[in-house]
Amino acid sequence: MKKRETLEKFIEQLKTKKMFSSILVSNDNQDNLNEFANEFARIIFCENLSIENDQCVNCKRFENKSLANLVFLGDGSLAINKSDVIELMHKFSLTTNEVNKFKVYILANAENLKNESGNALLKFIEEPPENTIAILLTKNKSQVLPTIKSRCKLIVLENKNRNDNSQNLIEEILGKDKNTILLSNSELKKMDKSELIGILEEAYSRTIIKKYLNIAEATLQLINDLKFTFQTNLAIDVFLIHVSEVI
Ligand SMILES: [Zn+2]
Repeated sequence: MKKRETLEKFIEQLKTKKMFSSILVSNDNQDNLNEFANEFARIIFCENLSIENDQCVNCKRFENKSLANLVFLGDGSLAINKSDVIELMHKFSLTTNEVNKFKVYILANAENLKNESGNALLKFIEEPPENTIAILLTKNKSQVLPTIKSRCKLIVLENKNRNDNSQNLIEEILGKDKNTILLSNSELKKMDKSELIGILEEAYSRTIIKKYLNIAEATLQLINDLKFTFQTNLAIDVFLIHVSEVI
């Protein structure tokens, strides 16, 4: 799933009090995982459940790392100790004076939960204190203890790079002057067709609709031509000519 869509879905679930109490987020890149976990944790505590940092009291406390009920476990490489898990359970079992009632822990490397620490956490996942949300992260979901995995909602995070590429590639083309837009054709023609379709679809849904309405239709046409015709090079030329004329 894409990060933004996942966060939007979770915000709805938080609003309707239907949020999962434990999620396992999978991606092969630790930075992507950390970014997702941090954004989601901030949203959970945000007074307005805002997808962007709205600088409310709790968003500021998040920035200052002064949210008492947000705990980080694991550093992405080492095994997680049972004592760390026990400490977390103890802390979260205490009543809280915090304004926001949620308690959130982010566990950076769920695949490193071994038997002892895994069993301790399992109990906690099965019977969490009220309003506790567990965000477990993993770069290798096949190595996460099956007992843990089966009790979490699994989120396979779509790789961020593709989104970035798609934004960059299309933005790059649109940022050129009229004549050099046409010279992008060789770059586009060299690309793997399915990859190009993916990038265009991504750009269509994320960027173009908002910023470049006048090429939205042409983008859709190109996606269709790439998918359903064999004249892909011609379709790319037609698209770029259109873009160079309207931009
Ligand atoms: Zn906020």
